Amino acid sequence: MPEIKKLLIANRGEIALRIHRACHEMGIKTVAVHSTADADAMHVRLADQAICIGPPSAADSYLNIANIISAAEISGADAIHPGYGFLSENAKFAEIVEAHGLIFVGPKPEHIRTMGDKVEAKRTAGALGLPLVPGSDGALTDSAEAKRLAHDIGYPVLIKAASGGGGRGMKVVPSEDEMDTLMAQAGSEAKAAFGDATVYMEKYLGNPRHIEFQVFGDGNGNAIHLGERDCSLQRRHQKVVEEAPSPIITPEERDRMGGIVAKAMADMGYRGAGTIEFLWEDGKFYFIEMNTRLQVEHPVTEAITGLDLVREQIRVAEGYPLTLRQEDVVFRGHAIECRINAEDPRTFAPSPGLVKLYHAPGGMHVRVDSGLYAGYRVPPYYDSMIAKLIVYGTTRQGALRRLRRALEEFVVDGVKTTIPLHQALLEDPEFQQGDYTIKWLEGWLAKQA
Ligand code: ADP
Repeated sequence: MPEIKKLLIANRGEIALRIHRACHEMGIKTVAVHSTADADAMHVRLADQAICIGPPSAADSYLNIANIISAAEISGADAIHPGYGFLSENAKFAEIVEAHGLIFVGPKPEHIRTMGDKVEAKRTAGALGLPLVPGSDGALTDSAEAKRLAHDIGYPVLIKAASGGGGRGMKVVPSEDEMDTLMAQAGSEAKAAFGDATVYMEKYLGNPRHIEFQVFGDGNGNAIHLGERDCSLQRRHQKVVEEAPSPIITPEERDRMGGIVAKAMADMGYRGAGTIEFLWEDGKFYFIEMNTRLQVEHPVTEAITGLDLVREQIRVAEGYPLTLRQEDVVFRGHAIECRINAEDPRTFAPSPGLVKLYHAPGGMHVRVDSGLYAGYRVPPYYDSMIAKLIVYGTTRQGALRRLRRALEEFVVDGVKTTIPLHQALLEDPEFQQGDYTIKWLEGWLAKQA
């Protein structure tokens, strides 16, 4: 087996720190890469080596493939972990890493490519037996065809960008009159944002939940699932709170659907961590996309399964078999994650700047993944998420009580954060009962205004 001795972390923030921690627990040395804006970041301080790869702009640093590969060669790293975001779902990057004789801690490049194109991903998922949202069979080319199809599916329909991500490049089309305009808009927005004007159509589900399954494959035809996460609490299609298990999925449903996704991954020969995202409405699952990387919300799965997903990613990349067989996976208790952003909790305006005081909550079953410290300056150039708070409880109610206690202890002074938003959310009876869909949070926010 190729042992990884030194791993380069091609990312920043809490996820860079998360990967560093797994590496050090495995006896693997770490190389941090960073932009000039991140010279004082915690992951840079803790890594065994740090290399500056460019100016603040992500395009010139964290997305700069040539500089990252050079950093790996200069430092003598034998593997690269891309984290999430940035280059994590860039098939070309994975190929370049492997072409340089380095281990890419992630899926096979061809699987990244297939799943990165949503039209191709849906086709593949359908062929593997996953239930799909009714919609166009591939890309949409002309609006007459779109209208015919929408008529059959029933309005409203959703026009989505094949290369879309982060909830961008989607248009809800309420009726035939608006098809021409909205389809053209979706195409040009997709072209501007992703360099690809390809769009496709899906039935617009009225009030679904977002439920995703964590999967792991060894690349040799073995795969398991680690249960689901409920990520329905979203603002502008961005996840705000995630929990595992979902309050509405029964153990039988979990086994059934988990079995289907694990089999699909086994048949594909999938390697490493992946997430199969579904919308769920009236007891039915509809595949929307697959993410071929570690997710922000992976810790809630770690909390209820006891498995270290980054360690597992590294072991699989080294060529080891999966640590667990499906029958060894046991789900215990309940975990909830709050994404804490440096933003105004009412307007969501970014609030970068100097963190004057920092005190993270602690105690039993409380985990904080964050690179913050007193004296750290949150740079304005990147995503505004500054911390993840993950709590575990033997029951959902217990986890909620612990979350309330942990949020009370959390002090971040100097920048505005969304901690007060999470505190208010926690007091809502519907949230407490787990009674929410992907529309719910925006409605709740409107009521608060
Ligand atoms: P992205 O890759 O941009 O995040 P997804 O396909 O994962 O796009 O969808 C993101 C979110 O958009 C979903 O979690 C859901 O809230 C909403 N969404 C996507 N497809 C549909 C659909 N067919 N009907 C209703 N809402 C949808």
